[in-house]
Amino acid sequence: MATCLVTGGAGFLGSHLCDELLRRGNRVICVDNLETGSLTNIEHIRVPEFTLLHKDIVEPYFVDEQIDFVYHLASPASPIDYLRLPLQTLKVGSHGTHHSLGLAKAHRARFLIASTSEVYGDPQVHPQPESYWGHVNPIGPRGVYDEAKRYAEALTMAYHRQQGVDTAIIRIFNTYGPRMRPNDGRAIPTFMRQALTGKPITVFGDGSQTRSFTYVDDLIAGMIKLAESGYHDPVNVGNPNEFTLLELAEAVIDITGSSSEIVYEALPTDDPKIRQPNIDLAKEVLGWEPTVQLRDGLQRTLDESGVDMLVGAAR
Ligand code: NAD
Repeated sequence: MATCLVTGGAGFLGSHLCDELLRRGNRVICVDNLETGSLTNIEHIRVPEFTLLHKDIVEPYFVDEQIDFVYHLASPASPIDYLRLPLQTLKVGSHGTHHSLGLAKAHRARFLIASTSEVYGDPQVHPQPESYWGHVNPIGPRGVYDEAKRYAEALTMAYHRQQGVDTAIIRIFNTYGPRMRPNDGRAIPTFMRQALTGKPITVFGDGSQTRSFTYVDDLIAGMIKLAESGYHDPVNVGNPNEFTLLELAEAVIDITGSSSEIVYEALPTDDPKIRQPNIDLAKEVLGWEPTVQLRDGLQRTLDESGVDMLVGAAR
């Protein structure tokens, strides 16, 4: 049995990771300050192998037992959160990543950082392979997130090269599934909430911008495979099937049986027009590729969350 520390373990992805690590027989220490996560995401976990440490990792933190893996996920992730919390986002990417890498070093643990497709910024290369260095606006409103993650990747490689820490970098593309917050501003929970309440579905721009959506179970499987590999360079984990936002809105309307109309709003600043991962590396080094396609994943999200949760009526 390995002991896995998960920063951000009470968040959307972190709570699914805790579930899966426990299911595989590991001990899990979840470290979270509940800034954007919630106890609701982990209240179903009632086993002695699970511990919650309520801590802000921007401050140094220590754990007095052997740790084998550090999964570093803590960071605001939705634009609605990092635009509200710009300094915290920069600090958790810098100080928080330093402290988590220091912890991994002290425990000789394997360290995995949850990075993002946003490190590519404007996708001048499409689909994006790991070798694309990106084109990011450092001073735009989204820069706090994109640059924090780019710094965190640089820091991770520095700890690896200079300090010998066993590190991994996963570049996560848009992921969805149960436990997304109905009001977190991301397309899938927003469209689902609007469709289920009969409100107009708000598509930004003309809806022709594309995204590639990964179902959470696929993402978590790829993340654990990467953590358990010996690989150090960044690996894209995402579903390469690309949809326009309009196609997504139509799929949500269809699956929820909604009669909502689609309305159009202004595009946010620096919103990428296209987004698609090249996952050749994940296939080669991890033997990983996604298995859940969009309609199936949307249906599972609806079935597992329940309507009350998706519209924000559940507590
Ligand atoms: P989330 O907001 O649901 O989870 C983040 C968690 O980190 C929350 O529980 C929050 O309370 C915690 N946290 C934030 N600051 C903290 C701090 N200073 N100390 C302790 N805990 C702190 O977001 P998510 O969607 O689950 O994303 C998890 C990670 O995956 C993030 O690093 C994000 O950048 C990355 N990621 C997510 C996606 C996606 O589609 N969900 C895409 C790319 C990258």
